[in-house]
Formats: sequence, C-alpha cells, structure tokens
Amino acid sequence: MAKNKAKKGIKIRMLNAAIIVAACILYLLLLHVTAFKNARYFELAEQTKEYIACERSSHVLYQASDYLTEQVRLFAQNMDIDNMNLYFEEANETKRRENAIKELVHIGSDEAVLGDLWLALDSSNDLMEVEMYSMKLICEAKGYDEQLIPQEVRNVRIKSKDAALSSEDKIEKARELVFNKDYQNAKNIIYGHLSNFVDDAVVLSGEKQLEGKEVFERGIIYQWIFIIILALLTVFNFVAITRLVVKPLGIHVGRVKENKLLDVIGSYEMRYLAYIYNDVHEMNRVNNRMLKDKAEHDSLTGLLNRNAFENLKEFYKNDGITLALVVVDVDKFKHVNDGYGHEVGDEVIKTVADTLKRNFRPEDFVIRLGGDEFVVLMTEVGKLSGDAVRGKLIRINEALKNPQKDIPPVTISAGVAFSEEGFTEDLFAKADKALYEAKEGGRSRCCFAAVEDITDENGGYWITT
Ligand code: GH3
Ligand code: MG
Repeated sequence: MAKNKAKKGIKIRMLNAAIIVAACILYLLLLHVTAFKNARYFELAEQTKEYIACERSSHVLYQASDYLTEQVRLFAQNMDIDNMNLYFEEANETKRRENAIKELVHIGSDEAVLGDLWLALDSSNDLMEVEMYSMKLICEAKGYDEQLIPQEVRNVRIKSKDAALSSEDKIEKARELVFNKDYQNAKNIIYGHLSNFVDDAVVLSGEKQLEGKEVFERGIIYQWIFIIILALLTVFNFVAITRLVVKPLGIHVGRVKENKLLDVIGSYEMRYLAYIYNDVHEMNRVNNRMLKDKAEHDSLTGLLNRNAFENLKEFYKNDGITLALVVVDVDKFKHVNDGYGHEVGDEVIKTVADTLKRNFRPEDFVIRLGGDEFVVLMTEVGKLSGDAVRGKLIRINEALKNPQKDIPPVTISAGVAFSEEGFTEDLFAKADKALYEAKEGGRSRCCFAAVEDITDENGGYWITT
C-alpha cells in the first residue's frame, strides 16, 4: 500500500547507480584522453628535438665539408703534409660528415626529402676524388715518401698526360683543381642540394610539429570537457542527495521530535519510509486510544469506570464549580443473582447503566464503580437542582420496575451530595452516607446530604410515591 503510494518518488539507489556508472565512464574517458595527450606531448617533444638536431646536423655538415676544402687547399698552397693528414683524419676518423648525415637520414626518413641528401653525398664523393687527385699531384711533385702518404692518395692513378708534367706544373695543376671555378661550382651544387634537403627536412619536421600540436590541443580540449562534465555531475549529485535525502531527513527528524506525522517528500525511499512511519504512527495512536478507552471504561456496561472516576475527581478538585454527586446502588441485587443466575444479573446491571445514561444529561458523567454500585457526577448544577435529580431518580425506578426486556424488575437507592467548590474531599463520603440513609430508610429512594431546604424529617425524599 505504502509502496504504491510512494511510487512517484525518484529511487535514490537507481540515481546513485546511474551517477556512479556515468562517473566511471567519464573517468575512463578522461584517463584515455590524458594518456593520449601525454603520448602526443612526448611525440611533440621528440619532433622539437629532431627539428633542433636537423638544424645542428646540417650546420655540422657544412662545417665538415668546409674543413675538408680548407685542408686540401692549405695542402695545395703550403704542401705541408700535416694538412693532408688533417684532411684524412677528418674524413676517416672524426667523420663529422658521416655522423651528421646519419642523423639527417634518421630525421628526414621521407624518401622525397632524402633525394637531395643523396645527390649532395654523390657530388661530395666526386669532389673528394678531385681533392685526392690534387693531393696525389702534390705528393708526386714533391716526391714525398710513400710511407707518409695516406692509402687513399697512394691508390690514386695519375693520368699519363699529367704524369708527364714537370713538378711545378703538377703543383700548378693541383692548385687549379681545388681553386678553379669547376671546384667552386661543384661545392655550390653540393651546398644547393644540402640546402634543399635541410629546407625540406625542416619543413617536414615543422609540419609534424604543427600536426602534433593540433592533436595535443584537441586532447586538452577533450580533457577540459570531461573535467567540466564530471564537475557538473558532482554538483548534480550533491543537489540531488541534498534535495532527495538530506533535507527531507532534517524535516523528518523535527517531525519525529514533535511526535507529528511525516511529510511525504524526497526520494522514493524517503517517501516510502514516511508512509510506513505515518501508518505505524496512526496505528500506535489508535492502539493508545483503545488502551486508554479500555483503562477508563467498564467492559460490561461501556460506562466510565473507577479509574475514570478517580481522574474526574482530580480534574474537578477545588475547581469552584457546582457539582452534584449521585451515588447509586441496586437494591437487593444479590437476590437477582441468586434467583435468576449471574448472567441475568449482568443484564440487569447493563439495563441499570442504560437507564441511568438515558435519564441524565449528556454532559453528566455516568460511572460504574463496580458490582451494582454507580455514581453520576453532574456538573454546573444549581442548589435547586435537587428536585430535578429527585425527578430523574423517580423516573429511573419507574423504568426499572417495568423492564422492557426479559429481566426481573429492580429498584435503586441513591445518595446525593452537592458542592459549590468542585470535588471536595468529603463529597463522596457525604453522598455515600446519604445512600446508606436511603437504604436504611427502606430502599428505592434517594436521600440528600444535609441540605436543609430540600430535606424532610427523615433526611430524604421518597423516590416512589
Ligand atoms: P443492598 O440492597 O443492601 O445493596 O443488597 P444487595 O444484595 O444489592 O447487596 P450488595 O449491593 O452488597 O450486593 C451486590 C452484589 O452484586 C454482590 C455480588 O454478588 C453482585 N455482583 C457484583 N458484581 C457483579 C457483576 O458484575 N455481575 C453480577 N451479576 N453480579 C455482581
Ligand atoms: Mg446492592
């Protein structure tokens, strides 16, 4: 029942599960994007290094190439064998050119770019042959010891027409070979190829860098998007939990403290709990009411019982209002029980209770003290109500003497006491004493407790005529 009523609310468990799943997916995406971005970052750093290495290697290449030219030209000029040795030291041991080329090949691995590098290398090798031929001519002209001449120069074959030249002419020819226009043109061609290669490699490296930068930036944008969505999800979760659980809980706690019903608010679970609590609360209230009723009512007649009478005594104690207390007892009731049985006796008690209830005002309290003894507590009565009370008791006895049901006729005796100061301590004793007088006076009558203007010489009125 409560479950059906609560159906309208959002299920916080479902919402929570959905938020956890969404958060997990977003975290995975964020991790993926971060890893991807980091990889692009290292690529970018690598490309930047390559770009720098490309520039440095091309610079080294030019330097090494110029160094060889410088040494071959110095050797041609000075014919100092040290210059030739420095040339081959650079060419065979230091190998700056080869190392730079290796690095450039690694960077510019694109075949289209490498074309110019191979052309420069071929031209450079051709030029080295010219240079070694020039060095051979010098060695021949100077007649250097074979042992001092590097193997590469020794291997060079002098053309027969050059071999026929004089030493001076050989030297002249050797110098011309490394200083003439052809040599310079060949060097320029090499520089041109190198320059093209370097330009292309730099452009290629720059393009790669740009591409890497764009991908890296895209990764950053995705990263921000996921972080913002995660932040929004967190805010949503906070608002949802606050509105659906925390706030309703605070309100519920206040209600429980005040012993009030709960408002049906918040998530499905909170609404469900509120319905259950309200049902239990209502059940509890009804049970309490029933228990209280049971504690204050007589089970046989349904009238108020002695407990209730004690409470009423306490309630009207020294209250300053006028009260009439009528103590009633069935006459010779033992005879009824003995003659007709206990069950019939009970029926008689119930009939007496109904008759009393019918004849007094709704605002009067009709109470069964126990056995065949009753009291009626009349509130807001005047002194002259004595006649009215007497009249009621006469009517009650008339009714009991002519029962409608199949029960024996009975009579009652009553003692009446008045008070103008609420329920005084001696009020019951006075009424009881008056009852005793009524019994002593012959029963089926009422006596009033010491109120001069309404008592007769016997201290009471005859209820029956
Ligand atoms: P009196 O005129 O002096 O009052 O005589 P009595 O026979 O009525 O005497 P008393 O009031 O002392 O007796 C009350 C009897 O009521 C005693 C008891 O057996 C009987 N009684 C008490 N409670 C119940 C009850 O719940 N049902 C029935 N049937 N009888 C009860
Ligand atoms: Mg009696």
